[in-house]
Amino acid sequence: MSFTAKELLTKRGVKLTSQRLVITEYLMQTYEHPTADEILAAVAEKLPMALSRATVYNTLKTLVDAGVIREVLTEPGRTRYDANTSEHHHFVDVKSGRIVDIPQEMLPDIQKVLGDKYNVKSYTVTFYGDLNEDSK
Ligand SMILES: [Zn+2]
Repeated sequence: MSFTAKELLTKRGVKLTSQRLVITEYLMQTYEHPTADEILAAVAEKLPMALSRATVYNTLKTLVDAGVIREVLTEPGRTRYDANTSEHHHFVDVKSGRIVDIPQEMLPDIQKVLGDKYNVKSYTVTFYGDLNEDSK
């Protein structure tokens, strides 16, 4: 099932503002896992008012806290954002910096592998390497 940005925000109990709407819409239509600065650059022209960096950070925090989007930490000190909130993993192409979603089904069930010893609530695996030229 897919929702529009407006439906998603309403469903998650987030008060609608044009900033939240535009940022959510942008993240829903990109597979790029952008940083806050990349989001700022991408949405700036879509809003009538100037958007400050602080507003972008605050908006992203609100959206993460509400479960609308999630943070992706694939590089130290650099937070990226993802509108795909389902459990999935990431592959980082170290040459291009491109980040690709890896569906959870592609990996063995790690929760089962760890057995009863660890009470796993959620997990993310990040793979680093380069993409095969033929598969692009
Ligand atoms: Zn992702």
